[in-house]
Amino acid sequence: MRTGFGYDSHRLVEGRKLILGGVEVPYERGLMGHSDADVLTHAIIDSILGVLGLGDIGTHYPDTDPVYKDVVSMSLLRETVQKAEAGGVAVVWVDATVVCEEPKLAPYIQAMCDNLQSAGIRGVNVKAKTNEGMGFVGRGEGIAAFAVCNIEKMGEHFP
Ligand code: MG
Repeated sequence: MRTGFGYDSHRLVEGRKLILGGVEVPYERGLMGHSDADVLTHAIIDSILGVLGLGDIGTHYPDTDPVYKDVVSMSLLRETVQKAEAGGVAVVWVDATVVCEEPKLAPYIQAMCDNLQSAGIRGVNVKAKTNEGMGFVGRGEGIAAFAVCNIEKMGEHFP
């Protein structure tokens, strides 16, 4: 058995959409980044690459490469899950936490889980927390996300 871990953060700025787990969340600001800056999906991708021992998202999808300008991060997640499957590995579970002072994410959590599962992950749990007003998240300067994932070899029994 192996576990992967991922972390990411992005700055909140005006004039960008807020995309979390592939879901557009209505808000006056969005996350800055070379891609769609989907911080939750990035943390999950890093957790999967970690569990596979394949380095990190920056190595696979460099933000200096124009190919990944404004790329939909969900498509990178799908590709990463396919990479795992090609190696005979199923991503069976992802548990993730988004740390975000505003907006309230509760109404969008289920849509995020459904969306992330559609990338080929068997089960996904997403949680949202505030940072109780502390630090860069607390000041509303950005959003952070953490994720862990578990894998199993294909063909084995999944409970
Ligand atoms: Mg990122």
